[in-house]
Amino acid sequence: MLKYRTGIEKLPVYDVIERDWNIKLNANECNMNLPPIVEDRVMGRLSRLAFNRYPNTELESLAEQIAASFSVERNNILIANGSSEILEKLFFCFGGRNHKVVYPQPSFSMYKIYAALSNSSSIAFDLDEDYRFNAEKFVETVNENKAHLAVICAPNNPTGTHIPLADIEYVAKRINCAFVVDEAYIEFDGQSAVGLLAQYPHMIIARTFSKAYGLAGARVGYMLAATKITDIVGRVFMPYHVNVISAVVADIVYQMRHEYEPRIAMMTSERDRMSEQLRKLPGLTVYPSSTNFILLKYAKAVQLNEYLMNIGIGVRSFGNAPRLDNCIRVSMGTRQENDSFFKAAKEFVEQHDGE
Ligand SMILES: *Cc1c(COP(=O)(O)O)cnc(C)c1O
Repeated sequence: MLKYRTGIEKLPVYDVIERDWNIKLNANECNMNLPPIVEDRVMGRLSRLAFNRYPNTELESLAEQIAASFSVERNNILIANGSSEILEKLFFCFGGRNHKVVYPQPSFSMYKIYAALSNSSSIAFDLDEDYRFNAEKFVETVNENKAHLAVICAPNNPTGTHIPLADIEYVAKRINCAFVVDEAYIEFDGQSAVGLLAQYPHMIIARTFSKAYGLAGARVGYMLAATKITDIVGRVFMPYHVNVISAVVADIVYQMRHEYEPRIAMMTSERDRMSEQLRKLPGLTVYPSSTNFILLKYAKAVQLNEYLMNIGIGVRSFGNAPRLDNCIRVSMGTRQENDSFFKAAKEFVEQHDGE
């Protein structure tokens, strides 16, 4: 008999339904590949890569660039396989048996899984009725439970909710455990908490190349924190955990990040345009978003999702996830893709209006 670690079979599975979508709006990815000028540089660099050597200078170059751009030291940066690996290691380091971790609900579904994987006690902090983040209540929850790790997602996935910097600082000031701010979508929001790090050395910022920088396939993320924290977390990675191909691609993308500004602007303006249009459809609640996706609540969300699936449009439906019943999250695609999604959603809603 196979004797695996107890509890694994009960772990929730990260389930995104994938098929050959005509229009893929279900994973908050960027719907454009590398800008051609970036691609040229990437291809040139890959052709000169020392595949026979373990990665080293390539990652150093990326870490130094990131440090310089935030005016912090190289030792304040850790790079990993997506911010997923960063988050997993943070739960591993600060969680564990008899350690409590607090994270918002609804939020990124992986927090619960990392808490379980690290044998931590999970405390899901409920966001308000309209998914707003109540900083005061969050502080109470963290402090009353004597939590070892507190996580927030700013702006929040899957609700799109902006969390004001003042609220983040309010929390930082009043809790004294490790405080992670997951900024996976910060480029669409613009108000990073990185500036708070110098004042609050228990803060950790997690970032990714997967969303605004369209590099989901390369799996690169990073964290910024005080050296006391990076020194500890740096010890739990496998040797050479970030492969050299991803490292050079991210290095070039970061060097050329100004090339992405028009795209990011396009995605945020698409988000605003789509939010406005969707709000005109009867029966739909459209939550305010400061990300590259929009959360909708609609009584016939399950049927709408099925309708969209049948015509090859993939969106994220949340089934019966806590606090997300009848919710659909739609990532922004190109203008054309968004128009096609909207046309289909409008047709469905108009057909079912008043039923
Ligand atoms: C997508 C996402 C991540 C993980 O991104 P990686 O691809 O692993 O870098 C982390 N947090 C949130 C909230 C996300 O939406």
